[in-house]
Amino acid sequence: MQDTLVRRGNKLSLQGDQLKTPQAQPNWNEVSLDKIRTKLTRAVGQAIGDFDLISDGDRIMVAISGGKDSWALLDILSQMQKRAPVDYKIIAVNIDQGYSGFRQDIVEEYVRKNGFEYHMEFFDIAGIIEEKTKPGDTPCSLCARLRRGSLYGLAEKYNCNKIALGHHQDDFIETLLLNSFFVGRLASMAPKLISDDKKNIVIRPLVYASEAMIKSYVTKMGFPVICCQCPIMCGETVHGDYKRRMIKKLIDQLELVIPNIRDSLLASLGNLQPSHLLDKDLWDFKTPADMTTPVSESCS
Ligand code: SF4
Repeated sequence: MQDTLVRRGNKLSLQGDQLKTPQAQPNWNEVSLDKIRTKLTRAVGQAIGDFDLISDGDRIMVAISGGKDSWALLDILSQMQKRAPVDYKIIAVNIDQGYSGFRQDIVEEYVRKNGFEYHMEFFDIAGIIEEKTKPGDTPCSLCARLRRGSLYGLAEKYNCNKIALGHHQDDFIETLLLNSFFVGRLASMAPKLISDDKKNIVIRPLVYASEAMIKSYVTKMGFPVICCQCPIMCGETVHGDYKRRMIKKLIDQLELVIPNIRDSLLASLGNLQPSHLLDKDLWDFKTPADMTTPVSESCS
């Protein structure tokens, strides 16, 4: 019998298959804190090595939003710093984006108590968004641009040559699918990126760490996770970025029948075959591609 992907309730399942529904990744909530820390540290270490993220003498500004990913990033980078073969500095920076109710004091208390060099900043991103967007618009891309701009400025102000952001594996693969599905572009995020003016380098050391792993680590560590209070993410009618939520759900559902889908999608970003894509700038189609057939090619 041919396998068919069918919907059962709110899940996708294979009909006619012999597959059970294997668990793709461990249930991180049941894994000990020490083991999660080891895995997370290994994932960050691997990313640092693969993408040459940290060098001797770096002053790394870690952007702390108060969300779980930024706490995990700050914690792991600071633990690795103690035994790293290179010397780097960490500067924690938090931006109050101007949404009322934001508890910058909670962030400040944590970084102060834990001995980090830190800076608390204010940028009225909320005000600019209100002024520039119409009711009903999704302000996320403008917000991201404004935040990026303010982080670039702060890195200069505090003499930091790198800015570390807390994007993780799920962010990378969701962005890949969002770009493919809605933009018609095969692109995700850069693990290391130099700004247009060449003054800043953005690094994303959590690229190999799954969101579930991070979430469990942060819960077990008891970091003071807070929300930025933006109405999209934390307002009374929380709806988040609808398209991203949809993609998240899709990946969760596909994971039931493709257990390693997250690792596989991420691996695909480092394993391009330009001759089997359609980008004329990447491949000279006057030269015929060899006949190596990728596993996914169909007979039609
Ligand atoms: S969810 Fe809120 S904080 Fe996040 S990008 Fe959108 S507007 Fe900005």
